[in-house]
Amino acid sequence: MKTITTHYIDGAFVESHGRETMDSINPTTGNVIGRAMLADEVDTRRAIAAANRAFATYGRSTFEERSEILRRLHKAALARLDDLIVAMVEEYGGVVQFAGPIVLSGINAFLAAEQALREMPWTRSWDKTTVTLEPVGVAGLITAWNANSLFICLKLASAAAAGCTVVIKPSEMSSLQTRVLVEALHEAGLPNGLLNVVTGLGQVVGAELVRNPDVAKISFTGSVAVGESIMRDGAATMKRVTLELGGKSPTILLDDANLDKAIPVALVMAFLNSGQACAAGTRLLVPNKLLEDVKRAIVGAMSAFVVGNPADPKIAVGPMVSQKQYERVQSYIRKGTDEGAQILVGGEGRPQGLEAGYFVKPTVFVNVTNDMVIAREEIFGPVLSVIAYDSEEDAIRIANDSKYGLHAVVLGSDLSRARRVASQIRAGRVVINGMMDDPQAPWGGFKHSGVGREYGAFGIEAFVETRAILDATA
Ligand code: NAD
Repeated sequence: MKTITTHYIDGAFVESHGRETMDSINPTTGNVIGRAMLADEVDTRRAIAAANRAFATYGRSTFEERSEILRRLHKAALARLDDLIVAMVEEYGGVVQFAGPIVLSGINAFLAAEQALREMPWTRSWDKTTVTLEPVGVAGLITAWNANSLFICLKLASAAAAGCTVVIKPSEMSSLQTRVLVEALHEAGLPNGLLNVVTGLGQVVGAELVRNPDVAKISFTGSVAVGESIMRDGAATMKRVTLELGGKSPTILLDDANLDKAIPVALVMAFLNSGQACAAGTRLLVPNKLLEDVKRAIVGAMSAFVVGNPADPKIAVGPMVSQKQYERVQSYIRKGTDEGAQILVGGEGRPQGLEAGYFVKPTVFVNVTNDMVIAREEIFGPVLSVIAYDSEEDAIRIANDSKYGLHAVVLGSDLSRARRVASQIRAGRVVINGMMDDPQAPWGGFKHSGVGREYGAFGIEAFVETRAILDATA
């Protein structure tokens, strides 16, 4: 049982002013494994003041100084890679086969930001005009629980590359993971106040960051509902906002796709991070004429998606993060059946032998139409809806008929056709024939999936203002 009573403010771990506590529960067992004291408004304002003081100097740092800081952050986080993975498995229930690469990709975000920082055009000049990119100021970084260290590292990397100081409000459900990461980052020996971390409730710490006039920018990863409130409440202080929100991403199977290759990709996308992934491909669009073949292929491929102890490297689907999330997924499975969709695999209840934790059965629905709730709302669990289509145009129409537009996958043998389809999908990222990442490629959504982009130069640009100096000297 680990107990946390401090926050990270001005380069030191300081006792919490807030006295409320919250337990961390291991979702694999349901057992309490830790307790953290939650920050209140006073802790938050102290962190903002520290970030503000530090900005006076760090906001004027050279690119070389920022590069050096990013390299030190990378080295410091990498030194605790194994501990970070263990914490993600224990506190969140992330399967180790996903937790390993996702934690590492967060750590590598420091180097990717350092590369982007070196390659970005920071200054443009013509005639008597010089345009420079200037750090926006103190940034409030608010994160979700489903990839805690990735979100913190990624946002911190972009902000620090831009010359911003930060106050991070991690999810209150990630206290233990955050502590391991902050201990690691402390070893980077940053200037005091550049990095501040206050874990607390969204309505308390998050709300203070959003309304505080000394915070210039909010970068948020989380739900659409909270994203909307940040935009609304941030308007009073003219906050710059980046919002990384939800998704209901389509995987478009074209009729020339090789099913032996395509179906495993479609299922990996659907059950990514146990389905608790904003990018999860939870709508599989299938040509009518291939429907029966696809059903058989899905049933055949499901043996690879074993549910169980997330620490076991053979396990592909772990528990849901909490009892609340477990119940949310159950209610959607029930809703799908009530709406007339048919369960091909999975269904309600816990998988046999996994009664202790918050495990659900990976579930695939067929006979789904795109107007059903299970095809429209983000479930955030391992639930896939198979939707049939008639023609290529029909597939594109269904894919785009969503309030979301975060991610999509197109699977097909004729590359020029797959590219043609990809170019018509209204989503921030479209991947052709497989799973792929590129740390310099932008990440973010169209429509309700968010505002702005993260990663690489696009992510750094989210933390700058543009200043033009026009020199009228003759
Ligand atoms: P959430 O919106 O409930 O919480 C996210 C964060 O916001 C938490 O730190 C929470 O404490 C804080 N918060 C809550 N109320 C707040 C308020 N009034 N003001 C300021 N902050 C507040 O989301 P969640 O349940 O933690 O995460 C799941 C959601 O995140 C899903 O919708 C998922 O799609 C989304 N998500 C998006 C991405 C992406 O990159 N687009 C990535 C991961 C998760």
